[in-house]
Amino acid sequence: KEMNDGEDRIAISPETCKKLINLGFSVLIEKNSGINSSFSNESYEEAGAKLKDNKLDIIKELDILLLVSSIPEQSIINYSKQNLIVLGTFNPYENYRNLKTLTINKINVISLDLLPRISRAQSMDVLSSQANLAGYKAVILASNIFKKAFPMMMTAAGTIIPAKCLILGAGVAGLQAIATAKRLGCVVSAFDVRPEVEEQVNSLGAKFIKVEEGSDKKTESVYAKEMSEEYKKKQLNKIHEIAQNMDIIISTALIPGKKAPLLIENRTIEKMKSGSILVDLATSAGGNIQGSELGKKINIFDKIVYSPINLPSLIANDASLLFAKNIFNFIKNFISTNKKFDIESTDELLLKTLLIRNGKKTEYFYEG
Ligand code: NAD
Repeated sequence: KEMNDGEDRIAISPETCKKLINLGFSVLIEKNSGINSSFSNESYEEAGAKLKDNKLDIIKELDILLLVSSIPEQSIINYSKQNLIVLGTFNPYENYRNLKTLTINKINVISLDLLPRISRAQSMDVLSSQANLAGYKAVILASNIFKKAFPMMMTAAGTIIPAKCLILGAGVAGLQAIATAKRLGCVVSAFDVRPEVEEQVNSLGAKFIKVEEGSDKKTESVYAKEMSEEYKKKQLNKIHEIAQNMDIIISTALIPGKKAPLLIENRTIEKMKSGSILVDLATSAGGNIQGSELGKKINIFDKIVYSPINLPSLIANDASLLFAKNIFNFIKNFISTNKKFDIESTDELLLKTLLIRNGKKTEYFYEG
């Protein structure tokens, strides 16, 4: 069972449980681990898993420990076999101090959020599967606290005009936020530093906002890089101008391993329309919106700035189904002929996600 507060997902679904058993594994699950994501104990038993009440009874027997996001405590790992493989998404850029405590018992820690974004890894890409759901849920949450309707409505009592929505950062979460806001009837605009996403934004029926000069050149990497001071200033001014006309802003802009770019300043929030909603999905990385506080819904001037924690966990069933599939696809790739996980593989998908090998930090362990 996940140990992090508010983590309702589970790293194995009844479907992947069955698949792992077909690959030759035995599956042990802590009782009630699936309840918060609507998977009953019986559904796992029917899939062939053995359920146990106690974490420590399970840990002693394991070769591979599957988790979503919780970093297990040393006191639990102390009971494990040597060479245990711990597999999950541990957000190593933010959690490196906790992760350091796992350099014991010759264990191996794999963090799937470090998977390279290459075609071969798409079916294992936990960041994409979860960010997509986060983008969807961010729009739904915004619609719940917005005091107006999203779609245009023509009624005998008058016409309701559609809400205007701006999405900052058009990666996986941003594109799904655009699609969701469009489906709900908003007029949607979006902004990203990577010029190649303009076409994707337009194909979803949204308007792409450009900072004319100095925009990012198309790079080899799928990720954005940090921009020049001059560009940042132009970008802030452009967003300041556009935001004043918006009802909803969802910000999703991230730069891996770096502080999230500040995109909305206080002066912009002040000028926005009364009752506007701003949802910041980048707060744990420093925030795109000035003043956003992780896990809080705060009033800044007469606007609401909301920074929800762990959105995929709010759709725990679907999120777990996809997450478990990602995990299964990763494991399947590394099963050797003797039905063991090949921790010595030199495949980049393993090398780049392996943070701790045999109890020692690897070169991919981020030290702060
Ligand atoms: P991310 O979470 O790191 O960043 C979110 C978005 O924020 C990105 O689009 C980024 O360009 C944008 N951003 C960063 N700084 C910004 C700024 N100053 N202003 C505005 N926007 C800013 O990225 P992600 O969503 O995980 O993925 C990025 C891209 O990778 C996506 O286009 C996705 O389609 C692609 N991808 C490719 C593969 C593959 O196999 N080739 C797999 C997964 C994702």
